[in-house]
Amino acid sequence: MSKKRKLMKVYPIEENCISCRYCEVACTMVHSKSQDPVKAYKLEGLKPRPTVEVKGAVSISVMCRHCKHPFCLDACISGAITQDENGKVKLDEEKCVGCWGCVLVCPFGAAHPFVERKHSFKCDLCEGRNFPACVEACPNRALIYDFER
Ligand code: SF4
Ligand code: SF4
Repeated sequence: MSKKRKLMKVYPIEENCISCRYCEVACTMVHSKSQDPVKAYKLEGLKPRPTVEVKGAVSISVMCRHCKHPFCLDACISGAITQDENGKVKLDEEKCVGCWGCVLVCPFGAAHPFVERKHSFKCDLCEGRNFPACVEACPNRALIYDFER
């Protein structure tokens, strides 16, 4: 019998999203060296891992779903993508060779090409933090952090 996964994931609630992009800013800030939103964007040149997609009145924050059977892992030619025992899908930017295989196969558009730095990047569930910054920052309960459904 396979081991029960104990992964917590971020789930978007589309009807609550008002496309404020606080999630994007919070993500970019906590992944920066400076921990400052302005420096993170303007000096460090970082990009957000969740991306808010907007179509008319509808918006949703799109990010990695840490799929049970991740297509990105199958597509990765360099071993940069791995899955831990709880099911978290990790992307090692140092090992990434920028082939964009993961970007092409991800059904959610959650793996992004960082073209200037020649590696892809995606949500890491805020590695090293107790709680994802995007969920904390959302003023409208449009993101929830919960056990895998
Ligand atoms: S990057 Fe895409 S395919 Fe890979 S685990 Fe995340 S959502 Fe799934
Ligand atoms: S872009 Fe990087 S992480 Fe994505 S499949 Fe290619 S080598 Fe792997």
